[in-house]
Amino acid sequence: MGSGRGYVYFPRYGKVLQLALDEVALLNSHEVRYLGRRLELLEWLRSGLGFGSANRGEPPRRRFGLFLNVANDCNLACVYCFAACGTYGKRASLMSPDLAAQITHYCLDRVPIDEVAHLIYFGGEPLLAWDAIVASHRVGLERARAEDRRVRFSLVTNGVLLCRETIDFLIDAGITITISIDGGEEIQNRQRPMKTGKPSFAAVTQSLSYLLAKSPRVCAYSRKMSEVAMRVLSRMPLAVSKCAIVSAL
Ligand code: SF4
Repeated sequence: MGSGRGYVYFPRYGKVLQLALDEVALLNSHEVRYLGRRLELLEWLRSGLGFGSANRGEPPRRRFGLFLNVANDCNLACVYCFAACGTYGKRASLMSPDLAAQITHYCLDRVPIDEVAHLIYFGGEPLLAWDAIVASHRVGLERARAEDRRVRFSLVTNGVLLCRETIDFLIDAGITITISIDGGEEIQNRQRPMKTGKPSFAAVTQSLSYLLAKSPRVCAYSRKMSEVAMRVLSRMPLAVSKCAIVSAL
């Protein structure tokens, strides 16, 4: 290095590149552990979005998502269910905690350590397999700490089994919660009845006030943010003032 410039040798390409010192510092940073990642960053730096650019942001990180179908079963029987009541046409079953831990290791072993691993607990209804979620999350958290890497967690639920204890755990564990709900009481009960045929609206909404009080950030997404959707949202027993209402389409 000298005169404010540095040189990096990329053995894969048999090339020496001249870089600014701050570029060299980034490529040598402890966070960049793989050659492939270094090359991507170099491309980013040279794209005009890197050093020297007024638009420079954080170096891009790729996100690797794993949908962990911990419950091949569901407690609802939505009229439009895409997954045959959560079974996908197969035998109803729940993932064991041991298997969930193994699969989480398998996933993290394959995500480059500099990238973001995103574990998404899915189903059917994932809360039916609570122990599997806890086991997978424990593995993800332990490895994130031990390996100094980023692991994100999400849960997609129909909300029926959410209770205070579950919500406390999920929020304290940093697991993002997505709840599917249709319209107001009448629509939810018609479109998303319990498997027993009973209405589901009360079960889904009874913990939402607690969730809203406890959660630092809440977004409500509507497939169509029409006037009707806005009216429906405002009728829901939510502290809507705390919601950022966002249209998905
Ligand atoms: S919540 Fe409804 S749509 Fe989702 S898996 Fe269960 S029955 Fe299907």
